[in-house]
Amino acid sequence: MVRGSVPSASSSEAIFAIVLRWFSSRSRLSSLSRTETVTSITYSEDTRERRRFDLRESLVEEHGTEATLSDFPFLPMEHRRNARILKTNRGRRDPSTRDGERFWICAECGRHRPSDKDQAKRWDENHARFCPGTCEEFVLGYEFRTDALVATVPPLPGTEGYDEALLVTAAEALLIAASTYLETEAFEISAFPRKAGKDRPGQVVLYESVPGGAGYLEELATHLPGAVDAAYARIFGHECSRACYRCLKRFGNQRWHGLLNKDLVRDLLFHLAIGDTVEPRVVTAGEGRVALDVQLATRRREREQGTYPKGHIEEVLLEALLAFDDLPQPQRDLEVKTDAGVLVTVPDFAWTDRRVAVYCDGYQYHGDRDTLELDASKRNFLAKRGWTILTYWGRQILNNPDRCARQVVDTVRAREERSW
Ligand SMILES: [Zn+2]
Ligand SMILES: [Zn+2]
Repeated sequence: MVRGSVPSASSSEAIFAIVLRWFSSRSRLSSLSRTETVTSITYSEDTRERRRFDLRESLVEEHGTEATLSDFPFLPMEHRRNARILKTNRGRRDPSTRDGERFWICAECGRHRPSDKDQAKRWDENHARFCPGTCEEFVLGYEFRTDALVATVPPLPGTEGYDEALLVTAAEALLIAASTYLETEAFEISAFPRKAGKDRPGQVVLYESVPGGAGYLEELATHLPGAVDAAYARIFGHECSRACYRCLKRFGNQRWHGLLNKDLVRDLLFHLAIGDTVEPRVVTAGEGRVALDVQLATRRREREQGTYPKGHIEEVLLEALLAFDDLPQPQRDLEVKTDAGVLVTVPDFAWTDRRVAVYCDGYQYHGDRDTLELDASKRNFLAKRGWTILTYWGRQILNNPDRCARQVVDTVRAREERSW
């Protein structure tokens, strides 16, 4: 279940309307308990009050179903046909607990009692005149089947498991990839972050709003590198801190505005954009996590065995950078220190006046694993001071030196106009 999704009043009402429609149709009733006695609800009081609803979306797992897995670098994706998507409305949020207050509905006649105390009292008196029923607590929900794409997102260095800001930003970036590449409209594909238990990487679930699906997501998985490349240009082609309406923000996603931060997905998107398309293979649903584990283990092994010697990959990147005449000279092995003079981190290349730091990793040539992992505290130290951080791993630089160099150059140039 998704926690902390706070929809705007307008979007909550839009979804709510669907809930009611489905709710009143007996044939559509899902596995939610005790819904069968409810036939109609009036909600005039809801539109007057602007408190937000506790809306949640989830993907219902069904044991042993098939999926097709596209093993993209550090973002394996499972395409699931006919997946079960459950949307629930747990009532208006209690401002103090942020939990939904549930709906109070008469089990006899299906009428909805307002949550406001005075209104409820009057409602009870009126209701008792024609109905012997008593009110019970309900969560409203509806469920439908559609095609979904489940992306397993690796946690950022130094963090574990579920990171809501990372996941909602990744979700929005993938929606942008879909809309720019497939020219889908905002309402045709939706996404939500998915928590998956303690210490397990979170996921982003994209689903097609048309029940049954229209084939968009399968198309997206097939052309992901190109689609993400287009999204990358849109998100990083301008300077803004965290997010703006030119990139990740839109009117339909206000509930995420406070969390969106494009720097969280810069590396992820870049790695996907320069990667190849992937031949999907049939797996049991849930294999995406296994695929990510395998990728991470492979990368660790490459580092430990020094498969891509660090000194070498730095030289390859530098050579590619030098092809850009107007790029200012980078500083090698800049020692970034605190005000008190304590060494924090040493990026391989840095442009101090633009605040861009580049890390080429590798393992063999550094004794200190921490300098390579660029853990969260170092990342935060730089980010707080306005630095943009680019990281590459060995295989990437050797396979795509020009694309990597191009990203560095674009980033340095984009920072040109800013004064520090
Ligand atoms: Zn009643
Ligand atoms: Zn922006």
